[in-house]
Amino acid sequence: MSEHAPHPSSQATWQPGLGALGEAFVTFLNPVPLTQPHWIAHSPAAAAWLGLDEAWLAQDDALKLFSGNALPEGARPWASVYSGHQFGVWAGQLGDGRALTLGALPAADGTLQEIQLKGSGLTPYSRMGDGRAVLRSSIREFIASEAMQALRIPTTRALCLTGSRDPVYREQVETAAVVTRFAPSFVRFGHFEHFASRQHDIPLRTLADYVIEQFYPHCRQAANPYAALLQTVAEGTADLIAQWQAIGFCHGVMNTDNMSMLALTIDYGPYQFLDAYDPGHICNHSDERGRYAYDQQPDVAYWNLYALGQALLPLIGEVADAKAAVDVYPARLAESMASCWAAKLGLLDPATATGLLQPLLKQLSVNQADFTLFWRRLSLAVAAGKADFDGVRALLMRGDALDPWLADYLRALDEHALPDTGAAMLRANPAVVPRNYLCQNAIATAEKGDFAEIHRLLEACTTPFDTRWDEHPYAGLPPDWAAGICVSCSS
Ligand code: AMP
Ligand code: MG
Repeated sequence: MSEHAPHPSSQATWQPGLGALGEAFVTFLNPVPLTQPHWIAHSPAAAAWLGLDEAWLAQDDALKLFSGNALPEGARPWASVYSGHQFGVWAGQLGDGRALTLGALPAADGTLQEIQLKGSGLTPYSRMGDGRAVLRSSIREFIASEAMQALRIPTTRALCLTGSRDPVYREQVETAAVVTRFAPSFVRFGHFEHFASRQHDIPLRTLADYVIEQFYPHCRQAANPYAALLQTVAEGTADLIAQWQAIGFCHGVMNTDNMSMLALTIDYGPYQFLDAYDPGHICNHSDERGRYAYDQQPDVAYWNLYALGQALLPLIGEVADAKAAVDVYPARLAESMASCWAAKLGLLDPATATGLLQPLLKQLSVNQADFTLFWRRLSLAVAAGKADFDGVRALLMRGDALDPWLADYLRALDEHALPDTGAAMLRANPAVVPRNYLCQNAIATAEKGDFAEIHRLLEACTTPFDTRWDEHPYAGLPPDWAAGICVSCSS
């Protein structure tokens, strides 16, 4: 361990996190060990942020700790109970069915981060599941968490990934893995829905007070602190969804139990970063009706906020107050979307950006242009002096289809460009995102025991704006087989 870093296996440094609220909220239990666990990968940025020394992380103690085979002294791991709406239907009690929180550790900025093992065995909330996570989905969550962080999009983080040859039965026999993830809190809309559905108003209030005290202390000063809490979550969610749309991120399973009270991206399953721009794209093969299609995400988040509002109603009191709190969402989303698009276009003025956007997206959609590459090549062209847009044109089925739009765009840049426009755009539009096929390549080699591609992909995804990637295959067009990749809820 580095000199100032708290040793994660020492009793003094572990805090209980949500577990401090006690047994109405969590069940205390230990992880189920894996057979002969091995390292797969860790995130150097995450380790540094938590003050964990690389040399210590390479040791057996750390391997045992993060695969659930040994406990830090004095830690009391717990699984929390929540409920939720899945695909628009009330699903009743769910909970941490395969995740255990070891406790919380301080990060570099002094904030406490709950450290959670995902895939650590059965809990009282496992229902029909086995408490395990397969290697395939764990690689996807590990890479995406750290990629989103590097893209500056609020997310739960991933410290490391461990695996074992223990079999896990899905459509096929796969092997087990554990992702160690962390966040200030994993509290979900569904935690509130759980107590509200049972009319357990006392724990409902305790939980709301906990979230306000820990994360939103300004709400305490409001005339109605619980309405202020709801409004704050609605604003944060609007900002998050705007960032998802602007980067082309599809979550895939926006059930209310996958919605974070801290407005973090949480529970990476069948997510996808768009390849060709298709607004109706459905990334989750289990989502037959497209409830969670890319262009539905803003409305679904609003629907989910209504579910949260309903749950908080006993604390808020008046329906009108709850409604007013949730209804800040559409305007906040529009404002946040406009500033995201303006940054991507290198424009100062959100209104000008919004005006340019609809005709652009129409052309990208009709011409099936690659979403990430379009924005990156536009940025490279502007950075190079905005004379040559051939690289951008080459992405469209009909290259000249964009010419009228490009003329309008160049005029807008003349009047409203951000200072140092090209450089600013290169910081807003990544070269690399963890596309499905990139993850799939890393998964295929990992399933044969070779983890090097995970490490390489992690490095690219955690430096996504770096121009060194622009000539690398990671920043190129996806291969034809990418469109045939099938990702479902199975994980
Ligand atoms: P998800 O769709 O991954 O958000 O999961 C929905 C619920 O099912 C959550 O309560 C999970 O903890 C639980 N769950 C998913 N997979 C498993 C599993 N293999 N074993 C136990 N619980 C699971
Ligand atoms: Mg979930």
